[in-house]
Amino acid sequence: MQRFKDKSVIITGAGSGLGRAAAIRIAKEQGRLTLVDLNEAGLQETGKEIRNAAPDAEVLLVTANVASEAEVENYVAEAVKRFGTIDGFFNNAGIEGKQNLTEDFGSDEFGKVVNINLNGVFYGLKHVLKVMKEQGSGAVVNTASVGGIRGVGNQSGYAASKHGVVGLTRNSGIEYGQFGIQVNAIAPGAIMTPMVEGSLKQMDPENWEQVGEEFVQPNPMKRFGKPEEVAHLVAFLLSGDAGFINAAVIPIDGGQSYKY
Ligand code: NAD
Repeated sequence: MQRFKDKSVIITGAGSGLGRAAAIRIAKEQGRLTLVDLNEAGLQETGKEIRNAAPDAEVLLVTANVASEAEVENYVAEAVKRFGTIDGFFNNAGIEGKQNLTEDFGSDEFGKVVNINLNGVFYGLKHVLKVMKEQGSGAVVNTASVGGIRGVGNQSGYAASKHGVVGLTRNSGIEYGQFGIQVNAIAPGAIMTPMVEGSLKQMDPENWEQVGEEFVQPNPMKRFGKPEEVAHLVAFLLSGDAGFINAAVIPIDGGQSYKY
C-alpha cells in the first residue's frame, strides 16, 4: 500500500510511543513527514528508525513545545514551507501527569497537563485547519483516550484535558466537514508505550511489570495494545480510505470501554 504517496503529514509527539509508530507506518507508505516533539533525542531516534524502515522517506524534524502557540505556528509554517501542503495531521503529543486524588491534585500540575494535552491540541487544530481549509482537503486525528470518554480516577488533569479533546474533535469536525476536511479522535486504552510504563512505575516502582499483568486482566483481550495497532488505525483515518468518517471518537482498547 502506498496511500501517502506525495502527501504531507504532521505528527506531534513523534519522538516516542504512538507518534513514533504512526511515523514509521506512514513513512513506509511514502508519506512526507514533519515530526514534532519536545524531546530532541527521541525525535532523532525516530528519524533513525525511519531511515532503517523506509530509506527514501522525506522527513523534517522540528523540536517544539505544543503548549506554546508560537511554536505550534512555527511547526505548521515549517511543514508548509518544506512540503507545500498539509494533507494529514496526527495531533497526538501529551502527558499523563501525576496520579492523585482530586483534593491532592496540585493546581500547578492540573494547569501543566491541560496546557499540553488540551491547549496544545487546540493550537494545532487552529493553525492546521486554516491551511487545510485553503486547500479544501485534509484529515486530522486527535489523540484522546479512554480517559476522555470514561472516568478512570486519580487523573483530574488528564480526564479534563482528554474529555476536552473529545469536545474539540466534535466541534471542529462539524465545522470543517463542509470544507472537505475530516476531524476525528482516537481513544486508546492501555497501549504499551513509555507513558504507560511510567504510569505503572508510579503505582509500584519495584514490581511494575507484575502490576501491568494484573492491570490488563479486566480487559476482554487480557493484554496491552501495541503502538503498531494504533498506527494502523491512525494511518487508515488519515489515508483518504476513511473519507466519510468525521467527528468520530474511535476507541482502540480491546473492548474495555464497552464492558459493564
Ligand atoms: P509517550 O510518552 O511514549 O510519547 C509522548 C510524546 O509526546 C513524547 O515523545 C514526549 O516527548 C512528547 N511530548 C510531551 N509533551 C510535549 C510537549 N509539550 N510538546 C511536544 N511534545 C511533547 O506516550 P504515548 O503513549 O505515545 O502517548 C501519546 C498520546 O497518546 C498522548 O496524548 C497520550 O495521552 C495518548 N494516550 C496514550 C495511551 C497509552 O496507553 N499509551 C492511552 C490513551 C491515550
